[in-house]
Amino acid sequence: MPTITLRLELHNPTKVKQDMYERMTEVNTAFANWLLNHPKLNQATSKLFKEFSSQRFPSAVVNQTIRDVKSQRKHQKAKRFKTLWCCFNSQNWNVERKGEFYTVSFPTLEKRIGVPVVTRPYQEAWLNRLINGTAKQGAAKLYKKRKKWCLAIAITFEVKPRHETKVMGVDVGLRYIAVASVGTKSLFFKGNQCAFVRRRYAALRRTLGKAKKLHMIRKIGRKESRWMKDMNHKISRQIVRFALANGVGVIRMEDLAGIRKRTASAKEAGRSLHSWAFHQLQTMIAYKAEMAGIRVERVNPTYTSQTCRCGYRDKGNRNGIHFQCQKCGYTIHADLNGAINIAKAISGFAA
Ligand SMILES: [Zn+2]
Repeated sequence: MPTITLRLELHNPTKVKQDMYERMTEVNTAFANWLLNHPKLNQATSKLFKEFSSQRFPSAVVNQTIRDVKSQRKHQKAKRFKTLWCCFNSQNWNVERKGEFYTVSFPTLEKRIGVPVVTRPYQEAWLNRLINGTAKQGAAKLYKKRKKWCLAIAITFEVKPRHETKVMGVDVGLRYIAVASVGTKSLFFKGNQCAFVRRRYAALRRTLGKAKKLHMIRKIGRKESRWMKDMNHKISRQIVRFALANGVGVIRMEDLAGIRKRTASAKEAGRSLHSWAFHQLQTMIAYKAEMAGIRVERVNPTYTSQTCRCGYRDKGNRNGIHFQCQKCGYTIHADLNGAINIAKAISGFAA
């Protein structure tokens, strides 16, 4: 069952509330660090908190923290928690619709009341699914980011696998950031704009680098990442929508994991430069496909861009965005040819 995480900002919590959330986090972190070295951690129940402190603290949070600390001690050499946000398991928080807006309630140091949250339309759709029971809620976490208190909630849901059998290939690259192909249909996303924006940011970074303005460089880096992420969200959404509209049951993409090490061709060298962006795009496509019940397969990327439909393979077949077979003369857009070969998995599947 796929899981997604919704991040909901609490709507204008009062200063008193914010201070309380702060205090809860402090107490929780201190308790977790105290627990880490406790000899009876494995038998710990929520009653153990009384040994730690006489103040009142929600036992739902205590239970969750005990679980976290146990797994922390089991899986790694835990030293200290810098911050351990308060978490609530699925039975201990709730979402409700109150007219125009949504409220969430979770255990705090005060009486439990619903707190309004800021929602976007797609988040409202998920909250409605929780309320009508077509999706299941998981754990929730109360945390602060950029001075704003938020609740991260996990949601799981079932997906009916699609019975369609058509296979779509998706090629990612620099000139065209993505090309999708299924049967005789295709969809192109030009990379020019991405390349342009990335170049502009790179130039800005160079200028700032000379002035040693590290802080600004990092800030720009984050801005660029956000821009790219937003772009990748849009592209992946359109690709999956295109797949659904064309009866696709399987999406195939290249397995780009090994490319960073090899850089055998200019195309690959370019891709390795921007590998995080391509990886992110592929991950988003895979994730959105899975949510729609489409199976995702990874194929071996070798020769996808050099091979003709007649079977002849030659580096010279490809010249930039032009593909012309040196043997049979067949011509096609090079990235579309790549997408078609990916759909056919001409070099087999990734191990
Ligand atoms: Zn040919």
